[in-house]
Amino acid sequence: MLATTPAIAVLTAAALYVATYLSFVRLLRYPRNWYLPTLSASLATMGLATVTMAHVSYSANGFDLPALVVAAGFMAGLFGIIGAPAIDFQPGAPRPIVEFLARHGDHAGLWMILPAIISAYTLPDAGLHGFLAAAMIIELTWFVRHRWTGERRLYPVSGHDLSVLKAQAKGDIEGFARRHGIRELVLSPDGAVNWLGCDKKSPPCPFNYYLHRLGLNSAPCCREHMKDLCHYVVSCLGDIGAVHWLEGGTLLGAVREGGALLAWEDDVDIAVLVDGDTTWESLGAGLSKRGALDGYYIDVFENRGFIAISYDPPRPWPFRWERNRMRGEVRLDLVAYRRAVSHGQSVLERRLIKGAMPLTESGWYGVAKEIVFPTSTVHFLGDDIACPNQPEEFLRIVYGDFEKVELTYVDAAAAETRRLVDADAMAQPKKY
Ligand SMILES: [Zn+2]
Repeated sequence: MLATTPAIAVLTAAALYVATYLSFVRLLRYPRNWYLPTLSASLATMGLATVTMAHVSYSANGFDLPALVVAAGFMAGLFGIIGAPAIDFQPGAPRPIVEFLARHGDHAGLWMILPAIISAYTLPDAGLHGFLAAAMIIELTWFVRHRWTGERRLYPVSGHDLSVLKAQAKGDIEGFARRHGIRELVLSPDGAVNWLGCDKKSPPCPFNYYLHRLGLNSAPCCREHMKDLCHYVVSCLGDIGAVHWLEGGTLLGAVREGGALLAWEDDVDIAVLVDGDTTWESLGAGLSKRGALDGYYIDVFENRGFIAISYDPPRPWPFRWERNRMRGEVRLDLVAYRRAVSHGQSVLERRLIKGAMPLTESGWYGVAKEIVFPTSTVHFLGDDIACPNQPEEFLRIVYGDFEKVELTYVDAAAAETRRLVDADAMAQPKKY
């Protein structure tokens, strides 16, 4: 124990907690993007947590077991609350506890205030006091920032969106909204259903959760922002001179849904060629610079070969990573492709697996060059955007029979409900 006075012990413990917290929220970027944290990032967070625990549990009187137990309990509880929204992002079987914590993620940290006050009164350990004070101040400011947001606009929910919502809610939209903590659903006295839309200043709609778990249509505000984000990134890539094309679910929407987003779309997918003047470094640096100026959050995953571009503006340092605590986001994934030769054939390959795209000789995933080059254009969200030369063939390689609707990340029961409503609407094309 280095601290010689209680004041220094308090400040050191508070600083250590803040550092551990920041390291932890930084780590959450991985589960938010559906994969495991790297070993180095995990070790850094575990190392900081261990040093914090050691500092809190050793005082001038020696080892203090109760202080260690209380601090470890608080850190486990708080980090469980803080990490729940990021973990809940991943599709898969329902996780009731994680879902519950995620749903209350804007204020759940405040549940720990009373236990913190009781612990501080019971245990006179200066280090523990600093630790608890720092943790509670962070949770309070997180809560206040969430509540204190700009004016949000109401979007009417009507037509097919309303049919899907009614079916998922089995007719009781109010009860459904309450049960699933969907605060954005606003019912007016005359029975009209509205959606309290997100914007750059507000927390995002947790629509990834609503889509995956509940099989709803993506919210009108989020769809509007996805469109803006798509056009923004395409214009940036044009300025940089990077060769790019629509891919994944975005290309599927452009081709199959006549230039629209899939109704349950939760992100935008664009591919970019890393080649010649467009290096990985120039791409990352160019987009980060533009994004910071124009209010978009850029997260570069070099090892995975993609750049995540989010609609929400970046937070000031050191709270940059705190956004990983949020329950939703409007995001565009820009995936890097490179030229290669595989089994004697010219291919374009990416590091991340995508649908049924085949393995290449280098262990990446790729398609024959002529399927993409020279790129063509497709009408998408009111503009002509670059797409593969043979878009249908590209989609067939990734999705197989792409004309058949697959509700990939939607909960099985919710998908079945939505499939019936969609089929019903398809039978009456004018209303769809
Ligand atoms: Zn929204």
